[in-house]
Amino acid sequence: MAGIVILGSTGSIGQQSLEVIENLRKKGYELNLVGITAHTNWDKLQKQKATFQPNLAVLTGREEEKRAGFEFGREALLELVVRDDVEIVINGLVGISGLEPSLAVLKAGKKLALANKESLVTGGPLISRILAQPGSGEIVPVDSEHSAIYQLLRGSQEQDIASLVLTASGGPFLYTPREEMEEITPERALQHPTWNMGGKISIDSATLMNKALEVIEAHWLFGVEYDKIEVLVHPESIIHSLVRLQDGALLAHMGEPDMRVPIQYALTGPRHVGGEFGNLDLARVGRLNFFQPRWADFPALELGYEAGRRGDSMPVVFNGANEAAVTAFLEGRISFLEIASTVGRIMAAHGPFPLTDLKAVLEADLWARQKFVEEVG
Ligand code: NDP
Ligand code: MG
Repeated sequence: MAGIVILGSTGSIGQQSLEVIENLRKKGYELNLVGITAHTNWDKLQKQKATFQPNLAVLTGREEEKRAGFEFGREALLELVVRDDVEIVINGLVGISGLEPSLAVLKAGKKLALANKESLVTGGPLISRILAQPGSGEIVPVDSEHSAIYQLLRGSQEQDIASLVLTASGGPFLYTPREEMEEITPERALQHPTWNMGGKISIDSATLMNKALEVIEAHWLFGVEYDKIEVLVHPESIIHSLVRLQDGALLAHMGEPDMRVPIQYALTGPRHVGGEFGNLDLARVGRLNFFQPRWADFPALELGYEAGRRGDSMPVVFNGANEAAVTAFLEGRISFLEIASTVGRIMAAHGPFPLTDLKAVLEADLWARQKFVEEVG
């Protein structure tokens, strides 16, 4: 029986992962839910524990108020993912907090179903080094674009691939003129047109930081250089991504925008089973649209490419400054446009250094957050 852990089970990815597991069990898949984790949402974790009966439930953010039947603290989370009875870990944590667990899962030789893109953005070089070791685990992407490309690449030879094309919904401000962006409130930015997601990724989608993070994620996941990663705005989010081949052919992966499909594929791949989620009726959709990104109006995208190309600690600083900026925006301390402009200023002030180990990554992250406080208060 495959043992599964869901990190961040109370979040958007986590809750949908529980639905997927429930559904697979109904189909006769033998899945053992070894553990679930939350940070502060004690009530939801308790309800999930009662409903889904995992062996362990871990709360990482409230160590001071211990209660019976639960494990507490980050150490408990790190111990959970390396247990012998665990085969697959779904990482649905948000931000750089997901990195250390990802490293532990891969070092322990287990399968990492990775939604937490910040793991690869901040720890790309560390993860590649682990994956090069004999006996290390493997990553199966959950992010819909990367799941699409992962599936598309199965039928192609490496030398035939011209580029990867990440599609982007464009977020809620796809058509908003630049001069109106200064007025954007957190409430409006949290309303995503096609996907229902956690707060941080919703803001990242509105600024296109999310796509920038995904470009860096794709670089590390598929070993492709930045000039071979394209971004194409596609508001309907029906084509989840494409692979451009040398002969001009474009392979597209299509489906309903429903995260349960890539989550399930990460568990059952290479099999495509089910059919309960997202049966797309193309005749109903009727028409698909595509645009170039508005690079000048969404500077986050260019900053992501810049951070990725510069390498070393720069993507960590890009990510850390963005995490701090998203929190500040949600708290009303900076405006929407200041998210990208502040990240850009912090990157410009950074002297990158090599990411030799986790400590170096955390140092760069801390540097970015301290710089953010200096800049913004
Ligand atoms: P949510 O904010 O909805 O959920 C985050 C989860 O992580 C919650 O369970 C939360 O616990 C927990 N958590 C938060 N902070 C910490 C911390 N410091 N340490 C440990 N646990 C923590 O996020 P999403 O589910 O939307 O996103 C998760 C990841 O997946 C992100 O990296 C995102 O970019 C990626 N992703 C998400 C998609 C989506 O559709 N949502 C699509 C593609 C990728 P608590 O509830 O207690 O706060
Ligand atoms: Mg995505």
